[in-house]
Amino acid sequence: MKNAEGSKETVREAEWWRFEGEDVRCMLCPHVCLISPGKAGRCGVRIHVKGEGLRLSNYGMAASLAADPIEKKPLYHWKPGTSVLSLGSVGCSMHCPFCQNWQLAECSPFVSLHRIDPEDPARLAVQHGTPSVAFTYNEPLTWFEFLKDSCRLLREEKIPVVLVSNGMINAAPLEEIVPYIAAANIDLKAFTPDAYRVMGGDLDAVKRTIRTLSAAGTHVEVTFLLVPGINDDAFSFAEMASWLASLHPVPVLHISRYFPNREWRVPATPLERIKEFERIAHERLPWVYPGNIDGESCTRCLECGRVLLRRRRNTLLEKNIDEKGRCAFCESPTPVTL
Ligand code: SF4
Repeated sequence: MKNAEGSKETVREAEWWRFEGEDVRCMLCPHVCLISPGKAGRCGVRIHVKGEGLRLSNYGMAASLAADPIEKKPLYHWKPGTSVLSLGSVGCSMHCPFCQNWQLAECSPFVSLHRIDPEDPARLAVQHGTPSVAFTYNEPLTWFEFLKDSCRLLREEKIPVVLVSNGMINAAPLEEIVPYIAAANIDLKAFTPDAYRVMGGDLDAVKRTIRTLSAAGTHVEVTFLLVPGINDDAFSFAEMASWLASLHPVPVLHISRYFPNREWRVPATPLERIKEFERIAHERLPWVYPGNIDGESCTRCLECGRVLLRRRRNTLLEKNIDEKGRCAFCESPTPVTL
């Protein structure tokens, strides 16, 4: 991996590992990879350097940096209508055959990397006037050490942090970062261990991450990408929705439309299937939104039924919430954080 300036890759010691004989064991995510000298773990960015231990190849290496609408993360009930400085690197702990960002996930040599320091997210957010910073695009938990260093500095500047993640992390490292995360969108890609196995993930770990963040008071929204042939079993989706409904507070659910990518070439999710899954979710959850489709979506006041928020794709078109976060029509509390 080379950065855009052509300099040598950035290598720094990783956290959460130990020696096991000649090998090292990474304990950051549920894969707990046992890594021989000279090899990388499944995420491709944590490397066993012989005689030194586990090193990172992506510390301070940004592949993408942009100011996005917060609705694009997607977060629909948190700071609606604001922009968020969004950044990511390369590497991913899963291998979804339909990945929409597979060049970043696979650390493709065609991805240009730019060197940044942990101070830069806060500095750039202030410079561009974005009220929050999101770690997103690739899997940010494989950027754990850079994420944590940046989060400390963002907290000093009182800039809230958003995590957009597959939720694949072990309990102890998760505890370290939870206090820094103000809002999160976590992918819940299926609700059976077998479907997660196909994608190279661990359902129990992802459920634990969602539960832990919710319990800690982080604003949590969940994205389910409906992929024909992978996770389109309505029965297990209904179980997923029931499980989400058992959390406190109940998270927002986004049901997103899949389009062919990477190795998965079946046609895009039929719109009727999205509507069917929306219906199933609505029987159990108060806040369900379709994603990756044209058309408008609304958040309505649960008391008076009037429109609180109206958006088209990632653009907020209407906001009827007062400065105290109440419905502008009937002054009832809303689920939206301003
Ligand atoms: S973070 Fe990477 S190296 Fe560590 S256990 Fe997970 S996939 Fe393996």
